[in-house]
Amino acid sequence: MAVAATDRDLAEDAAERLSHLRAELARASARSDLAADGDERSDGHHHPAEAATDADLRERQLASQMKSHELEARIRAAEEAIADGRYGTCAACGEAIPEGRLRAVPDALRCVACETRARRLGH
Ligand SMILES: [Zn+2]
Repeated sequence: MAVAATDRDLAEDAAERLSHLRAELARASARSDLAADGDERSDGHHHPAEAATDADLRERQLASQMKSHELEARIRAAEEAIADGRYGTCAACGEAIPEGRLRAVPDALRCVACETRARRLGH
């Protein structure tokens, strides 16, 4: 049922958006590195209450860095799927992933049902 030309367009479109995502991710992590440097220099001037806020901020930065590692891994996996011609096919059940989902979430490697199941299991 799938038309080869449509699949290729979708993969090309996804590859382009994945590279945008990757560039955004690189910019965001560069910004959070800068923010961390600023914290180091101003540490001596903080009240205890502000220090607690800084600890919270640092924790959030760490969490967002972990998230960006996760996202980077997803982007890489999606790019590999495009290269292998597996892109657009659910990695778990082998069903076609709806085009609308791929356009909304270019790094999606599983259909909504499998993704939901995986999240519930904590993967
Ligand atoms: Zn699936």
